[in-house]
Amino acid sequence: MPNPSERSRFRERIGALKNVPRVMLLVWHAAPLVVLGSLMFRFIAALAPLGVLAVSKRIVDAVARPGSVTHQQVWVLLGFEFLFAAGGLTLGRAIDYCDARLADEFARDVSIRLMKHAASMDLTLFEDPAFYDKLERARLQATDRVALVNAMGTLFQRVIALFSLATGIIYYDPWIFALLLVCVLPAFAGESHFAFLGYALAHRMTPIRRELDYLRILGSSRESAKEVKMFGLGDYLRERYRLLSDELIGRNRALTRRRLRWGALLAIVGSLGYYGGYAFVVAQALAGSITVGTLTFLAGAIAAANLELQSVFSLFSSISEQALFLTDLLTFFAVRPRIRSKPNAIPAPRPIRDGIEFRHVSFHYPGSERRVLTDVNFRIEPGERIALVGENGQGKTTFVKLIARLYDPSEGLILLDGVDLRDYRVEDLRREIGIIFQDFFRYDMAVRDNIAAGRVELIRNDPALWEAARRSGVDQIVAKLPGGLEQMLGRRFEGGIDLSGGQWQRMALARAYLRDAQVLILDEPTAALDAVAEAEVFMNFAELTRERIAILISHRFSTVRLADRIVVLAEGRITEDGSHEELIASRGQYARLFEMQAANYR
Ligand code: ADP
Repeated sequence: MPNPSERSRFRERIGALKNVPRVMLLVWHAAPLVVLGSLMFRFIAALAPLGVLAVSKRIVDAVARPGSVTHQQVWVLLGFEFLFAAGGLTLGRAIDYCDARLADEFARDVSIRLMKHAASMDLTLFEDPAFYDKLERARLQATDRVALVNAMGTLFQRVIALFSLATGIIYYDPWIFALLLVCVLPAFAGESHFAFLGYALAHRMTPIRRELDYLRILGSSRESAKEVKMFGLGDYLRERYRLLSDELIGRNRALTRRRLRWGALLAIVGSLGYYGGYAFVVAQALAGSITVGTLTFLAGAIAAANLELQSVFSLFSSISEQALFLTDLLTFFAVRPRIRSKPNAIPAPRPIRDGIEFRHVSFHYPGSERRVLTDVNFRIEPGERIALVGENGQGKTTFVKLIARLYDPSEGLILLDGVDLRDYRVEDLRREIGIIFQDFFRYDMAVRDNIAAGRVELIRNDPALWEAARRSGVDQIVAKLPGGLEQMLGRRFEGGIDLSGGQWQRMALARAYLRDAQVLILDEPTAALDAVAEAEVFMNFAELTRERIAILISHRFSTVRLADRIVVLAEGRITEDGSHEELIASRGQYARLFEMQAANYR
């Protein structure tokens, strides 16, 4: 049951109608010519019913009063009626075609806009469940709201048809039309009320639907299959799915039933209007105050107008229902990323002359009070290679995310060549940074796509792709794959080959090397590699990072030692900073960790 505040949100429903013009703009933008064609066809088709009725009135009158017109004229009239009817049918097909085209174009256009917009969103938002719900609803709406487009076209046509029929009826008697109008109103009110309840229900059910999706994925995905099997979770997941979906179905069913009962009752009231008007006209014909032809015309016009009126109202309420759903899509489009280029942003420096500096930088993730970094002061000179060391959860990844401006500091400043990162164009800044995260992504796409993801404009440049592959050492793996660069990877698509963790990691490294960025950041780039492979990667690493800023996060001291400077992070603060020898000599945490790891190898 909707709660009282939902019930009282009548204004929201009316307010949602303001979405309609914005949606019309989206539709127009998707395919202007098709929209024009559709409107034109609909306009003409809308006049056909009145034309047919007007002609048939004259035919009936001619037959009822022989001699008033010649036989030949009757046949001509009949020909006209046929033309009207046939024209209406042909136009119907043309309209169907336009609708189908428009639906496709609209769905595509909105999906593309959605992808574009989602890509511009702050990373923070993706970590927020409320945002995720919104994105999920918006995503559904992109394809589900195609009905709205058709409904708007049909409404246009119905309104024109209704106007033309109403003119005909009002010409004889305005009251008949008034009666029709009054009797249809309750059905309209009922329809829109239930439409609103339906929306409120769907809105509240989004978290359940997301959980259902998640359970379904858990129950049938490759990633979870091993654990689900070993722990025997199948039945448990299924049962949880069944219970949740029972709840969803139960609530929907209750609402549908109520809607059905009321809908039937209100429809009966609607037909009363029609029969009232019809009875009135028949009485007039019996009294001889109108001709038989006029009776045919009015009876036909009343029946048609009644249908048109009902469909105008039900279209209207279905449009306002759909418009409510679109609120989510439009609010999603209205969310602006906070991390974006200022209007007068400057290009990133090339080459970097002064390095990167942290000044009193503190950071806490949005929605959490806990500081992950506290008052960090730090400099990296151009061409310097830094290793970030520290136990898990000390803020190393967060540190590099701030450099890439995936987040902005909560306090303090990060400077690149003495200028606040926020003054550079974001896209530019990111272009200068090649970063491979610990949880790098495995694209279920061809090898070519996996490497070129580092710099998509090089996707057709095979020598560059091979060179990047060579540097990361993935070239030997690719050479053994049957498809070479075109080999599909991953298990999602037909013919895909899965790689081992270390192989995927090298693939990700190749992306970083392709990037030709001035700052190279590798977050545990060798975690999945064996000792030999690691040594190999770092031979290349030293060569590749010459004259670039490199930041390396690693737990392996064999790797860490390669850096010019080692920085230790503990609880979000820099506790040690110096060369390997200096830190060993100072006998701090670094020396302790180093001793511990060295002991394991003895
Ligand atoms: P490290 O790289 O040193 O292992 P991280 O920078 O990944 O550490 O994490 C530092 C702290 O920030 C951890 O306590 C972690 O739980 C928290 N954290 C990391 N990412 C997020 C996030 N997206 N939202 C909230 N907290 C986060």
